[in-house]
Amino acid sequence: MEKESWSQFEKKLKKQVGATSYNRWLSKLKPQDVLSDKAIITCPNKFVLDWVKSNFYKDISITFKEVTGKEVLLGLETSNPQKDKTDKCLSIPSQLPLPGTENFLYGLPFLNREYTFDNFVVGECNQFAYASALAITERKSLRYNPLFFHSSEGLGKTHLSSATGQKIIATHPNIKVFYTTAEWFTHEMIQSLRKNRILEFKEKYRKQCDVLVVEDIQFLKGKDKTQDEIFYTLDTLIQMGKQVILTANADPREIKDLKDNLKSRMGSGLVADITPPDYETKRKIISRKCVEENVTIPEEVADYIAQSVKTNVRDLKSALINLIANSSLLGQKIGLDMAKQTLKSFIKNKAVTVEDIKKFISHHFKTTPEKLQSKSRSRSVAYPRQVAYYLCRKYTETTLSDIGICFGRNHSSVLRALNNFETSIRINKSIRDALNYLTDKFEKTCL
Ligand code: ADP
Ligand code: MG
Repeated sequence: MEKESWSQFEKKLKKQVGATSYNRWLSKLKPQDVLSDKAIITCPNKFVLDWVKSNFYKDISITFKEVTGKEVLLGLETSNPQKDKTDKCLSIPSQLPLPGTENFLYGLPFLNREYTFDNFVVGECNQFAYASALAITERKSLRYNPLFFHSSEGLGKTHLSSATGQKIIATHPNIKVFYTTAEWFTHEMIQSLRKNRILEFKEKYRKQCDVLVVEDIQFLKGKDKTQDEIFYTLDTLIQMGKQVILTANADPREIKDLKDNLKSRMGSGLVADITPPDYETKRKIISRKCVEENVTIPEEVADYIAQSVKTNVRDLKSALINLIANSSLLGQKIGLDMAKQTLKSFIKNKAVTVEDIKKFISHHFKTTPEKLQSKSRSRSVAYPRQVAYYLCRKYTETTLSDIGICFGRNHSSVLRALNNFETSIRINKSIRDALNYLTDKFEKTCL
């Protein structure tokens, strides 16, 4: 990239994110490979890289496009991975490329080499997805084909699909793993059509790859032509016994504006969802990240972060990185006050109590907190009570026994009701829709 364009890019980026953020995080970015369809920008070390990736990727990418006028796929890397590996506070080793796999690991979009099974923390929320991913790396059976991960953002879909791709490459070096996103696939397809190279494009995906990962399928909404192309690609690969891994922000059957044949093709293998992490998993993720960053934080701070960040793993990790950065910039030890101060912006959900939920449910279902607490088993009370239990589990850290106490029930009665309710959510779409509507309303009014 020419010097002039780069300094223009720097200026614009500074304006976009503000001088403080720019000076702290972005002033050391450097252009590396800038090709016609991809560009790699480097950060001085892994710590900055993590932070830049999770906080400024969009700004960088928009600004880059504005300055160069090019639609390129942007990759962020550390400028000197070897040096990072010896850096004491950056103890996680980035994986070395495996012989013969460079194209697939270095091509763009690329499998993120930092996302491995080893550094994926397993908990109740992602156990099923994790186990299915691991199962396909053994390549014994193609029953899970396609394997479809879905969740809201920041819960590990990219991490798991990248880990799966890498493990397959590591254990079967001859297998060609193609990793792409629905957005990039669409972009490539349009470019190929323009340049009269659509046959080449079709061949690349249908004939040259053994494992295909396509992320963020929801991007295809309403894009009929790309949907047709991806349908035939998936169909061909699956019929040839090649593994396909897909990710999206919703169950394939519930993504709107997607053709029915594609929905059913994508849902015809194994569909695994990942839910937000429970308290225990959050604690494990925090401990893990602290080990990686070589810092120790007091128990009460770890507890506070786990209790407070309710959104997703990305926010949880960012909150922790932010805290570590602040402590090192201020030269102060991490304590509860600093954590509270630093985490303000990450704590999107203010603490909700069981009493708030009782009030909200009573109002919505036109009943009263007293009735919810009563012995009544009539459906007009039992159903709202189940929903209330569900919200208590989702939005508070209250244990089942304590929820029971608040509703005049014991632990096992709450557990049974929750299990029944979760089964009906899975099998009954109208309950699911009603619940989605209700949780939206709850989040808007109570959080
Ligand atoms: P998604 O693709 O679902 O939006 P990502 O896979 O990009 O989410 O995950 C967001 C961040 O959270 C990444 O840094 C990822 O490593 C981390 N992450 C998500 N789940 C886990 C997990 N179970 N263990 C460790 N890190 C995780
Ligand atoms: Mg992702």
